[in-house]
Amino acid sequence: MESRKRKISILGSTGSIGTQALEVIEKLSDKFEVVALACGHNTKLLEEQAKKFRPEYICLSDASAKLEIPGIKTLYGEEGLEEICSNKENDIILVAVSGKIGLKPTLKAIENKIPVALANKETLVMAGDIVMRKAKENNVDIIPVDSEHCAIHQCIKNIAQVEKLIITASGGPFLHKTTGEMQDASISDVLTHPRWNMGRKITVDSATLMNKGLEVIEAHHLFSMDYDKIEVVVHPQSIVHSAIEYKDGSVIAQLGLPSMHIPIQYAITYPERFEGIKSKSFSFAQIARLDFEEPDFNKFPSLKLAYSAGKTGGSAPVCMNAANEEAVYAFLDGKINYCDIYKIVEKMLSGHNAVLSPDIDEIFEIDNEIRVKTREYINCGLVEKV
Ligand code: MG
Repeated sequence: MESRKRKISILGSTGSIGTQALEVIEKLSDKFEVVALACGHNTKLLEEQAKKFRPEYICLSDASAKLEIPGIKTLYGEEGLEEICSNKENDIILVAVSGKIGLKPTLKAIENKIPVALANKETLVMAGDIVMRKAKENNVDIIPVDSEHCAIHQCIKNIAQVEKLIITASGGPFLHKTTGEMQDASISDVLTHPRWNMGRKITVDSATLMNKGLEVIEAHHLFSMDYDKIEVVVHPQSIVHSAIEYKDGSVIAQLGLPSMHIPIQYAITYPERFEGIKSKSFSFAQIARLDFEEPDFNKFPSLKLAYSAGKTGGSAPVCMNAANEEAVYAFLDGKINYCDIYKIVEKMLSGHNAVLSPDIDEIFEIDNEIRVKTREYINCGLVEKV
């Protein structure tokens, strides 16, 4: 890395990825300088982070939340995020907010030719065509943070030589449960992920395998690969983070212990590499075995829905994402059962006439429209009749 410190801003600094990113930055404190930290509602943690890392700015999502720290400028809301992403002092911006709020700041960073370490799924699921086109036009790197895409990013030398992408999935907590057992799954069953410790929304998505479906759509955009050349394989140990097969039959995989510190560090230090937080070395002998199996598309219909929405393209993934998010929150609120989640998504997708190349405003309109429709559908108790 350049000898001067790399200037970084983190959108979503109090979330799971954001806090781990700050642990990486603390470990590499001679290599990073924090320009801005932005959070959703955890103002207390943001205050602690700001006092420790001394950014120039902080950004709060809620204008009524007051936080004054001498010497640090306080910004608010989406405008604040866009102001951070317009500051060309940044060498990299880590977009680790969750939800659609990540999309516009990412586009702003790209317009300002600032590389983005992308952990926000919605950015590519909702607007992958637009985001990747703009990144190309502006010659800006989008470096994926998600462990699977980070793995593929590390494996690819020449994309033209790649035959297919192989994305691994831990299989979540219900891998070997029957459909009947899944029907009665409680919120806490769903939230107990065997390998990764993540936020609630993504943990539910990991149980339904919708998370893998979203990752397939992201991979399609990030690596401009056709959907029939993106394969999902279940790998419960989460040691192989993903792989690619080259045209000559060679398979290159990226392996590592399941720790998000590794892909986060890779993304924010790329193309350099440094000693990581966990220097415990990797031992094949200790791991002893790696298992793989095909995903069961019948047991996990959300994965099938994601492939199909992805292939339809246009606004179909927008619809799928919005319906899924609303359904997941309804599940977490105890309003619907686990198995209703995919049924709701399926219902919303089947009633959606996909717009072929929506612009950003249309994307947000469709997103909003589907959310309203999904909530109405759930609240009217129509779910049983699906
Ligand atoms: Mg992942």
